[in-house]
Amino acid sequence: MKFVDEFRDPELGKRLVDDIHRKADKHMRLMEFCGGHTVSIFRNGIRQLLPSTVEMLSGPGCPVCVTANSDLDKAIALAKVPGVIITTFGDMLKVPGSTSSLMQARADGADVRIVYSTLDAIQIAKDNPDKSVVFIGIGFETTAPGIAASILQADAESVPNYYVLSQHKLCPPTIKALLDLGEVKLDGIVCPGHVCAIIGSDAWNFVASDYGIGCVVSGFEPIDILKSIDMLIDQVENGSPAVEIAYKRGVTPAGNTYAIEQLYRVFEVAPADWRGIGIVPGSGLVISKKYEKYDAEKNFDFDPGPTIEPKGCLCGDILRGVKTPLDCKLFKKACTPDSPVGPCMVSAEGTCSAYYLYGGGDE
Ligand code: SF4
Repeated sequence: MKFVDEFRDPELGKRLVDDIHRKADKHMRLMEFCGGHTVSIFRNGIRQLLPSTVEMLSGPGCPVCVTANSDLDKAIALAKVPGVIITTFGDMLKVPGSTSSLMQARADGADVRIVYSTLDAIQIAKDNPDKSVVFIGIGFETTAPGIAASILQADAESVPNYYVLSQHKLCPPTIKALLDLGEVKLDGIVCPGHVCAIIGSDAWNFVASDYGIGCVVSGFEPIDILKSIDMLIDQVENGSPAVEIAYKRGVTPAGNTYAIEQLYRVFEVAPADWRGIGIVPGSGLVISKKYEKYDAEKNFDFDPGPTIEPKGCLCGDILRGVKTPLDCKLFKKACTPDSPVGPCMVSAEGTCSAYYLYGGGDE
């Protein structure tokens, strides 16, 4: 299959691994920002193929995992409002909030439906004119343009009972916040391919220029990731941090300017609460005043109650790259994919889930 087979070519993979072993003389710490990369790295056994000098850390790039309990509690509280239908992507259903989850709310009688796109959510609103349909808008720059488009569509088609609870997050401000925290010293970042397809690789220029850390935008196949690591090693060994693209079939320096334009027709930049990191200025998106009649937060009375963090769960530390699932006493014991304690075990892109499924720590 074009654009797939050549990026899974074992011979090319072996050459890249040999190249990495030959070049990586000194110890370096690289972070893959994106949960999709974490899963691909584990699924393809890439950590086991790397020399001991190349340490890989998983970053905060899983939208479900970084959604703070305070935000999850809002979605769960909204589900309990009479006459509300919650629509959401499936991953969100099992994520535990402070005292409940959307799945528990559904078991208790709330109308919570899994959808595969916002088009489904708008259709549900059209089919249920006497109900209020709220779409839980989570995700990064990748999903936000589509959700902006759904609000524009609701407006154009006069669908008055469609709302979005916007919990979107922006990636570059969060990397800045992580670097400013200074808890983890990084030598390079494997940047998120899907996010960069929208915002472009130029959005990461500050990481190289202000922090002296190299960035390579990667695709999701094993060759993409090995190539990105190889390029980062070149940057580290040559002392020349830069922003490069190893995913040229999907990403340009400027990104998708049309999608960005649609996004900012509807959303405004605002602070956002990231699990494990806290409030990061300029890292979230709220619905602008012009479209506030579609803003669930502004149009319903609901009380999410006090925020309670799951006891013993280290998701926050794992998302900052300072701990791994192996440091968590609950990993594989009280916390498994069937009975998750924290979001990093629930999400298909979560680090705990990847460690659990692909034997992280067995390398
Ligand atoms: S193993 Fe479970 S409890 Fe521990 S950090 Fe991961 S999600 Fe949280």
